[in-house]
Amino acid sequence: VSDNGKIRWGLLGASNIAKEWLTAAIRSHPDCEVISVFTSSEERGKQYVEALNLKRYYTDLEAFLGDPDIDAVYISTTNDRHRNEVLAAARAGKHVLCEKPLALSVSDANDMVEAAQSAGIVFATNHHIRNMETHRAIKQILKSGEIGQVTSARVSFTVDLPENLARWRMYDQKRGAGVILDLTVHDLDTLRYYFDASPVRVSGIGCTTGDAPEGIIDNVATVWEFPGRVVVICQDSFLVPHGGTAVEIHGSAGSIVGKQVLWQEPQGEVIVSTADGTRCITVEHRVPYKRTIADFVAAIRGEGSPSASGGDGVESLRLALAAQEAIDTGKTVEL
Ligand code: NDP
Repeated sequence: VSDNGKIRWGLLGASNIAKEWLTAAIRSHPDCEVISVFTSSEERGKQYVEALNLKRYYTDLEAFLGDPDIDAVYISTTNDRHRNEVLAAARAGKHVLCEKPLALSVSDANDMVEAAQSAGIVFATNHHIRNMETHRAIKQILKSGEIGQVTSARVSFTVDLPENLARWRMYDQKRGAGVILDLTVHDLDTLRYYFDASPVRVSGIGCTTGDAPEGIIDNVATVWEFPGRVVVICQDSFLVPHGGTAVEIHGSAGSIVGKQVLWQEPQGEVIVSTADGTRCITVEHRVPYKRTIADFVAAIRGEGSPSASGGDGVESLRLALAAQEAIDTGKTVEL
């Protein structure tokens, strides 16, 4: 941390999300600055310095991480790169906020958590959905007991993948393509957040329905059992231009419906129905990444925990990969 108490960040990856969301979210925190970017491309380095008003770019990872003026890094490269980059950042003693999915295998993700622990750095996963005001409101209603005993839930993370995001997400298996590592992983983090528990088994069907190469799943339905015999359906797709996103949670005394709540933009509505009638919850929308950053900064200062830890990232990945296994084998996977 700098002499004036500021946390100085480097962007590890010249990504779309760093440009569109996280740089602004970090800068909106009064105690954070964004200084530099690491990229494998000179051209993107120049573009990002210019577009984001950074001090410098690096194309040498060790030089980027060796900069004593950087305290924390935000890793938002393609999924295959996260593991080695987290290990390198931990070796350099930088705190790390890493994108989901943490890695392509559970053992790699566990290596990342261990490296962070031995280096004594804060290591967080950017599962932003639990930081959306809509989902925080849903969790509060669940905790209040208003809808009684939860029996089932449904998540529809169904989107139309824009061209600029499709590049590796839709077409490049070795970079961690497909809807399961992109969206199912978020569903499971959100469900774990709602229920304070992980599921006990999963079944699923997934297809290559759109333009993705055969073997890269872009359209999936998974069925999960959570403790207490709660049955959950997750529908995730890159091929739905007009459906919108939603969550539903049903209990013995009521239901909660969240409409348009699975996006990056703060938006959507939460509706609760019980024997007393139906009401819309008032939600003060806020960019979810701002809470990610505020919690991360508090954790660096020893005043709290990241909103989603490295361990949370391992768990959502473990569950997403179990869904993949259920689809590949056609069998229910016990968790
Ligand atoms: P991008 O495709 O925009 O960037 C990923 C990497 O690809 C960059 O680090 C960059 O490498 C390289 N790259 C960027 N633009 C180009 C290009 N035009 N041609 C070739 N290579 C390019 O990724 P996203 O921002 O979509 O996603 C990054 C990570 O963030 C993923 O892990 C994803 O799952 C996650 N994500 C999370 C979200 C959330 O809300 N939590 C939302 C969106 C993404 P280099 O750095 O070497 O230049």
